[in-house]
Amino acid sequence: MNTNAANDSHIISFWTAEFKDPAMEQAYQNRVLPDTVRFLKICVRLWAALLLVFILPDWAAMGASEGFYVITSIRVINAAALLILAWKLDTRPHLASSGVPITIIAILGYSLFLIYPYYQPDTATLGFAIVLLLLLSTYVFVPNRLMFNNLIALTGVSSVAISTWIRGASAMDMTITLMILCWPAFLGYAASQRINTAARRAFILLTQSEQTNQRLEHEITRSRELEAELQRQALTDPLTGLANRRHYEMLFKREHERCRRHGASLTLGMIDLDHFKRINDNYGHDFGDQVLKFVAELMQQPLRQCDILGRFGGEEFILILPDTTLEQAHAIAERMRQTLETNGLLRDGELIKVTATFALTQVRAEDTDIQECTKRADEALYEGKRAGRNRVTLAQAA
Ligand code: GH3
Ligand code: MG
Ligand code: MG
Repeated sequence: MNTNAANDSHIISFWTAEFKDPAMEQAYQNRVLPDTVRFLKICVRLWAALLLVFILPDWAAMGASEGFYVITSIRVINAAALLILAWKLDTRPHLASSGVPITIIAILGYSLFLIYPYYQPDTATLGFAIVLLLLLSTYVFVPNRLMFNNLIALTGVSSVAISTWIRGASAMDMTITLMILCWPAFLGYAASQRINTAARRAFILLTQSEQTNQRLEHEITRSRELEAELQRQALTDPLTGLANRRHYEMLFKREHERCRRHGASLTLGMIDLDHFKRINDNYGHDFGDQVLKFVAELMQQPLRQCDILGRFGGEEFILILPDTTLEQAHAIAERMRQTLETNGLLRDGELIKVTATFALTQVRAEDTDIQECTKRADEALYEGKRAGRNRVTLAQAA
């Protein structure tokens, strides 16, 4: 990752309290959008309710006069605009982060404070106090871009300044009014600037920790894959992909215990390719390797998922058949032998076939390890070789 580029995108403007990088600002806005929408909805509904509630004191003060109707119309239009915005936010949430609609409504709303003194000159002080509160509320409660809130505040200050001027206030009064108004505006700006900056700093930390977590998760997955691969390599014969000695010995132990517990039969077989030396001598060691791979694949075909075919060493293989009697194993081995006998590997147009001698022994409950069984099978194998090879022989029962 380019650290400089990342750091540049983290720069927050002091005046706007937004990221200088538009993409980063957009990412932040998208992240906080659900909260912004929720908060803005509450805010505009409350705002609309306040606008409508104040119709009552207006009625009490003005009665059914022209002023009442003008001011009430403005109130109702303003409240309606706010409620429409709240409703539209459900389908167009981005109206919340753009800040434009709420800014326009707020600016138009300040027209009330221009019109009010015209119809009710004696409420100027009350209006002034309300604007003071509104300035602060705009910054603290209205979720909006800081620069837009500045614009709303400027409209508020200007509308009071204009109405004060229309009423013929002295230059001194005007100055004092402006100074008093600027104070909550400044307070609101400072508070909002700090809140917005802090929120963006938290966003940077959050995204950084998320990135770190992602990297860690990636590393963990990679090392798990590596570990699985190493484990596979440690248990597999590299040439044939069959279980190596360590693996099949482990599996034998597990199956032996399981079959003993359940009183099930377990059969062990040894397979030795016939005259394999000739293959190497005639066609080379590399072709001999290809034959070993081919034979391993071929012999696995008739086996069940639970059967185990391992490489004993050289051109010898081991077969472990759980839940299988010697008789059943005999049939399986015979099928394997025939498959081998009838299939071959093409080499320069010549079909090279290889046969094997199989020896089977029933694993007994008293057998303590695989060596006892392989010893019995090896003797039977020798018998098979002596008897002419390419056959299945059974170890003598004790
Ligand atoms: P038999 O029928 O009596 O088993 O005869 P054989 O030639 O198969 O037996 P022998 O034990 O004399 O020879 C086994 C040969 O297997 C010798 C060795 O070169 C070959 N061999 C053992 N491991 C490998 C291997 O990984 N690759 C290749 N290409 N040949 C191997
Ligand atoms: Mg051999
Ligand atoms: Mg051999």
